[in-house]
Amino acid sequence: MAESAIQSAAVADARTFNHKSSKKRARLRRQMYLAQMVSFILDAAILFLYSLNGTIPAFASAWYLAAGVGWTAITLILSEMHFNDRFQDHYLTVPQSLGSIGIQLAAIYFIPQVGFYFACIVFVVLGFGALRMSARQTGIVWAYAAIGLTSIFTLTHQPIAMPMESFAERHLTLLCFVTALGRCAFTGLYGASLREALYKRGNELKVAHAKIEELAHIDELTGVLNRRYILRGLNDEMARAQRAGTPCAVAILDIDFFKRINDGYGHPTGDEVLRGFAITLAANMRSIDKLGRYGGEEFLVVMPLGSKDQALSAMDQLRQIISELDWNSISDELRVTFSAGIAQVRPNDAPEDILARADAALYKAKDAGRNRVMTS
Ligand code: GH3
Ligand code: MG
Ligand code: MG
Repeated sequence: MAESAIQSAAVADARTFNHKSSKKRARLRRQMYLAQMVSFILDAAILFLYSLNGTIPAFASAWYLAAGVGWTAITLILSEMHFNDRFQDHYLTVPQSLGSIGIQLAAIYFIPQVGFYFACIVFVVLGFGALRMSARQTGIVWAYAAIGLTSIFTLTHQPIAMPMESFAERHLTLLCFVTALGRCAFTGLYGASLREALYKRGNELKVAHAKIEELAHIDELTGVLNRRYILRGLNDEMARAQRAGTPCAVAILDIDFFKRINDGYGHPTGDEVLRGFAITLAANMRSIDKLGRYGGEEFLVVMPLGSKDQALSAMDQLRQIISELDWNSISDELRVTFSAGIAQVRPNDAPEDILARADAALYKAKDAGRNRVMTS
């Protein structure tokens, strides 16, 4: 029952996340398509000026405007209806590029007097699209543009030009090249922003990964190493001590009558005691010692470069600190003590061997009346 509640909460979370991210994606697409529409309107305006000058027929700019704005409006409507969300490339870069290049090819064919400009726009569209397309997709769009241009160049004999005769024509042509250059610059900047976003995303992932790694080491309740990682620490330190012939001691600490604390003060108080206990141990140990939660109210301390006697005196000092600590801030009359068993690493020990000896010593300490430290 509880599990299915957690599952449906997770599903609801995922839905909210998807909804938010799909809204954000639709907003980004809207910006992109509106920019594309502005680009078509700008070109139609330049064509209109050419037609005022008599270079091209009057209907040319109206036709170009209708084709460009109509095509962009269709893509914008589909995007707003979230049709794009079902595709991996939600910008639908390939059909977008094919549609835009198709309009430019038609413009080269029908308005060859300024055809060179539309050829420039084909470069811009392909360059911009390639930022979001795979090599295969770019190849497809390139082949489509190449076949279109080849058809126009071979099937017709009309010169594809830019008008330069009059003062007005020279300057309108200059305007065409300047706006095409501007779009090239925009493409470059867009590529740089994509790279920057990727770099940022990579860094965020690194931080998240480090956080996950850190959390994976830690016991959630007490903040010390969890069982898996303290056992890994024990393994490493034992191997190092056995290789170098240096001493290494291990202690198992078990809180005395912890069940009574739980029963008498409640489980949340028991949790508080575990936290306070772990923090106090951690604060009073050498920095090279490793502390982890071995089980419910049992902790493991690995003490590299420490003889059995040194470990005994360190653990006894901790025992005294814990037993003399004022626990009243957690609950009145609360007293906490622990018992510990210590064992020293031997040359051919496996981790199970030393843990078994430390455990046996712990039982001796419990048998002897608790609140004491014993060695194996
Ligand atoms: P002894 O002196 O012999 O060690 O007695 P004890 O009562 O400490 O030993 P016992 O093993 O019988 O009880 C340990 C208790 O620790 C039982 C269990 O409910 C409690 N415990 C285990 N994990 C947690 C925890 O995360 N939080 C709390 N509050 N209690 C826990
Ligand atoms: Mg126990
Ligand atoms: Mg206990």
